[in-house]
Amino acid sequence: MERACIGFKMKDAAQAYRHMKLELVEDYGSKAYGNILHTWDDGERYLCRCRSCGGYVLVQSSEYHSFTDGDDSYYKDYFPVDSPEEADELNRRYNGFDIERESGIRFMICDNNNPHWSTKGK
Ligand SMILES: [Zn+2]
Repeated sequence: MERACIGFKMKDAAQAYRHMKLELVEDYGSKAYGNILHTWDDGERYLCRCRSCGGYVLVQSSEYHSFTDGDDSYYKDYFPVDSPEEADELNRRYNGFDIERESGIRFMICDNNNPHWSTKGK
């Protein structure tokens, strides 16, 4: 049976983050179906499978280019998906900003090595 990583059911985001041992399944790149698959200046979206539980995780990585070298910022969002088909459906429906704001999905955000849950969602 295909399903999302069980880490998304954990209360503690740091615990969920430690649980997720991610292995790349499919790289969607920075654009699909006319949607930009990241926020800020640069980034990409890719589907992973968790080696701890076999569940799926859709990752969106976004980068901010600063004018001074070596000072770029980035963060990653982790979304639960039950299958590659569901991941691709999210690519079709939501660009980088909309998947965060409009999808209603509760996801994990990791910036500066600090994982936390998005506040809105299911
Ligand atoms: Zn897992």
